[in-house]
Amino acid sequence: MSKIPFVNSNCIWCWACVAISPDVFDLNDEWMSIVKELANYDWLSVDDSIWACPVDAISWKEYFAWKRANNPDFAWDKKVA
Ligand code: SF4
Repeated sequence: MSKIPFVNSNCIWCWACVAISPDVFDLNDEWMSIVKELANYDWLSVDDSIWACPVDAISWKEYFAWKRANNPDFAWDKKVA
């Protein structure tokens, strides 16, 4: 796995990505869309969500950059399964 969907802080909680890709995106209590941690992502579905997002909050990120963004304690030298 090399790339993972990522949602930045521009998210306005519009639900579009969740409606398009419910297996990938969910909404949290902090008014943000979050990406579920999956072994694989449906690229076409995620690309549709990227296209539909009204504030360009979704992008593909390299796996290690994604882990770091979602877990500040993540160590770059740690092996990830
Ligand atoms: S489509 Fe964009 S703005 Fe709407 S919930 Fe998803 S990430 Fe947030």
